[in-house]
Amino acid sequence: MDHEATKGLSFGTIAIHAGVEPEPVTGAIMTPIFQTSTYVQPAVGEPRAGSYDYGRTANPTREALEANIAALEGGTHGIAFASGLAGIEAVVKRLSAGDHVVSEENTYGGTTRMFNHVLSRLGIEFSYVDSRDTQAVADAMRPETKLVHVETPTNPMMRLCDIEAIAALAHDAGALLSVDNTFASPYNQRPLLLGADFTLHSSTKYVNGHSDLIGGLVAVADEGLAEDLYFIRKSTGAVPGPMDCWLTLRGAKTLHVRMERHNENGLAIARWLEDHPRVDRVFYPGLESHEQHELAKRQMSGFTGMVSVDVGTLERAKAFTEHMQLFALAESLGGIESLVNVPALMTHASVPEDRREAMGITPGLVRLSVGIEDIDDLIADLDRVLG
Ligand SMILES: *Cc1c(COP(=O)(O)O)cnc(C)c1O
Repeated sequence: MDHEATKGLSFGTIAIHAGVEPEPVTGAIMTPIFQTSTYVQPAVGEPRAGSYDYGRTANPTREALEANIAALEGGTHGIAFASGLAGIEAVVKRLSAGDHVVSEENTYGGTTRMFNHVLSRLGIEFSYVDSRDTQAVADAMRPETKLVHVETPTNPMMRLCDIEAIAALAHDAGALLSVDNTFASPYNQRPLLLGADFTLHSSTKYVNGHSDLIGGLVAVADEGLAEDLYFIRKSTGAVPGPMDCWLTLRGAKTLHVRMERHNENGLAIARWLEDHPRVDRVFYPGLESHEQHELAKRQMSGFTGMVSVDVGTLERAKAFTEHMQLFALAESLGGIESLVNVPALMTHASVPEDRREAMGITPGLVRLSVGIEDIDDLIADLDRVLG
């Protein structure tokens, strides 16, 4: 189904049909995996359908996935990348030396590493703010600020920022807003509809949802921005393979069903943990006790399976996480199976200790990626380790 035809349809219908057309030769209902590097051209310099000349530039399996994510995010164009970080890099590479970026301080650790140790060496400047405070973002803007980059909810502290307000202030200052929507997924939050210019995913996580590939997706609602990103990707080369695109498209078709269960399980576990005497604090935007619960209700329609808990000390965090049966001790998130990790020693070990502590990423903080198993079994697993 093409973009026009999906207008007016509901999310689950779009997830299954957007971008997917019967294959023209046989009518195969599933988009084939076009596992090819190049295409035979009928005449010199005249590729078929105008674009199929080389696999880095164009691939039909990739295009089906791109049309799907564009529709799911309420945008017009999707651009698929080899990883989530490659997608973020492409958005920043629209800028030039001397330009400035204002970034949320508690983003995915790999994002700050890329900003500070790779892209800043090319002359792009980055400043970091706590974007829960919209005024702090406004105060960090400079005449040369071209991009504001936020993540909401953040990893692992589940901080939110007001996408609509920040989009407005970025635009007033002549800058664009990119939102890393990995944690929420398009099922729960659609930044483009709130005014953002780019919505980004590590599709490694919820969009693919089966922990079997690394991938990135960007969606936009502007032809010019899409052209920029296609050009950057073609020129720099971070393309995903056709097989991974096919798997991601298959995953995206069940996103709505999976997210319903992630949302349900996440909320049930957050509530159960909040009442547990051995847990100091629970961070989950769906809890009334979350300091930004009102904003969460306003800009999200569900609160995902990501739950962080503070159990006080590293010893307790280790005792908790190393003896679980169903929650596997691993980095990453957003798959159908439950995972657990200790961010200070695992996913966020590369963040300097003083910054970690300032953001609340203490050694006793445990992050759960609640999967879609049966809730009674998950709670029994937690009950056993927490005692
Ligand atoms: C994992 C992750 C990334 C990086 O994505 P990769 O696919 O691992 O490159 C970026 N942002 C967030 C929020 C993530 O969780």
